[in-house]
Amino acid sequence: MRIHKFGGASVKDAEGIRHVASLIQDFSGDDQLIVLSAMGKTTNALEKVAESHFTKDGEAHKHLKESKDFHQTILSELFDEKDSIYDAINNVFVEIEWALEDPPRDDFGFEYDQIVSQGEILSTLILSHYLHKNNTQHQWLDVRDLVRTNNVYRNARVDWDLTVSAIQEMVKPGKLYLTQGFLGCTSENFTTTLGREGSDYTAAIFAFALNADEVNVWKDVPGMLNADPRFFKETTLIENLSFYEAIELAYYGAKVIHPKTIQPLQRKSIPLRIRSFQEKNSPGTLIGEGLKQYPQVPFFIVKKDQTLVSISSKDFAFIVEDHLSEIFATFAKYGISVNVMQNSAISFSVCFDSKPMLFEKVLKELEAEFHVLYNHGLTMYTIRHYTADAVEKLIKGKNLVLEQKSRHTLQIVVDES
Ligand code: ADP
Ligand code: ASP
Ligand code: MG
Repeated sequence: MRIHKFGGASVKDAEGIRHVASLIQDFSGDDQLIVLSAMGKTTNALEKVAESHFTKDGEAHKHLKESKDFHQTILSELFDEKDSIYDAINNVFVEIEWALEDPPRDDFGFEYDQIVSQGEILSTLILSHYLHKNNTQHQWLDVRDLVRTNNVYRNARVDWDLTVSAIQEMVKPGKLYLTQGFLGCTSENFTTTLGREGSDYTAAIFAFALNADEVNVWKDVPGMLNADPRFFKETTLIENLSFYEAIELAYYGAKVIHPKTIQPLQRKSIPLRIRSFQEKNSPGTLIGEGLKQYPQVPFFIVKKDQTLVSISSKDFAFIVEDHLSEIFATFAKYGISVNVMQNSAISFSVCFDSKPMLFEKVLKELEAEFHVLYNHGLTMYTIRHYTADAVEKLIKGKNLVLEQKSRHTLQIVVDES
């Protein structure tokens, strides 16, 4: 069995649906399972609906209409006016409207998941209908019957035992299946989501449960490049990479693959291929057990919007373990995860993703005990397997505020304002 995952960029319009359908028709044999994300920026659009519903700002229906119009345009380009898909899609929007009629629960995550999850239901209904019209036999699966999770909304944890047995019971060899990424379901049958960009992870969950031969993640890039092409003009395609290295890169913030994806695959030595949906014959990047990185080039990771905080004691005493545990307790309390930290005798510096609302609370708490300096709007660069040349090129002309080196990894925080 082979698992394929197509992301939002691959189905951002009617042409995308046609193209993905043609890729699926090309797959050899029927032993395949397709995981699909919501179309284009649908998840962002539905997030706005959920926020408006929760904050009762009166804009929820307006935001919903944007998403309705977007899907309507795509339908009109793919199907005749009288096609039954119009009713199916309309029913999904009616379901969201019903959710908007009820007063929101006191739990934003719950409201978010019930609304935002419909993006994947919409996209898979549309692709499924298009495939049937074009005589590609397959079975549409509601992933919420299969991926069982706890009830931590927006970041649900998978119950592996229940999920593996549900998948194994439903999915049989020799057929073609289509299902949704990103979604799960609690024991009480409420929809959950696995965290933004979680569809890659869904593909790994199915691969693990089905002992798949390979996972193919189809993207709008030729594969994993040694830097995000949105920020770097010159990039090199990484042809081979080990699971270990892929986990490290995801940890440092490489955005091309969801960080939770690799470990289930590594556990069962299932190779992962990141490949281009525009160049279907290119091999892309193969990530697998024991593969040596090829080519051996430095890998650059950018994280924008960083906050750097420098903390020192009010009485000029050294920063010692007691202080550090107090500082970390504050970060943990507000769910702030540290991207890089540095300690000196009199101050402790930490860098994390900016979260303005939370930061005010963190600052207040820290300032009660410490002297705190901070800086917003910074950028963090990480170079894995850095070379003198790579470092020189990267830091040239940049205003460095922090630098840290280990044997394989260099991290700098710079002020680019
Ligand atoms: P999808 O959700 O459609 O599967 P994503 O947008 O999550 O795709 O991932 C693809 C994007 O990841 C690319 O368009 C690219 O901008 C970005 N990206 C970030 N880092 C890298 C990298 N090292 N190599 C390739 N793409 C990267
Ligand atoms: N649609 C979800 C998101 O945009 C999940 C995914 O695309 O992976 O985050
Ligand atoms: Mg994505």
